[in-house]
Amino acid sequence: MLQPCKCGSGDAFGICCKPFFDGIAVAQSPEQLVRSRFTAFARGNQGAYLLNTWFPATAKGLTEIDLSNVSRRWNRLEIVGWGVQGDDGWAELNAHFTDLSDATVARVMHEKSIFTRIDGRWLYIGGEVVNG
Ligand SMILES: [Zn+2]
Repeated sequence: MLQPCKCGSGDAFGICCKPFFDGIAVAQSPEQLVRSRFTAFARGNQGAYLLNTWFPATAKGLTEIDLSNVSRRWNRLEIVGWGVQGDDGWAELNAHFTDLSDATVARVMHEKSIFTRIDGRWLYIGGEVVNG
């Protein structure tokens, strides 16, 4: 059964973000990292992947269990832009969601995120939520 990936790439989950979660593939760009992390939040149970792709110094206090919980219904990811300069990266995104308690109100989290590449792996440093 081909299940479309939550990240919105148009590809099936099995060949899109799943290989990242399985440790078979490594995100090659901030864009791939954003997509895979959105899918991880949307599907849940991927706390280990979220922690492994979080810059350790800014992930302090976060646990795999917390990050495995689905706290919102993440419906759609829209990547506004992204770029790379050396081992620094950025992305700007709109994450469309509804609250678990009320699916009737469509909401958007607009975030500008920054990333760094260490030993060939892109890591999420943090993001500034512009609204949401
Ligand atoms: Zn995907």
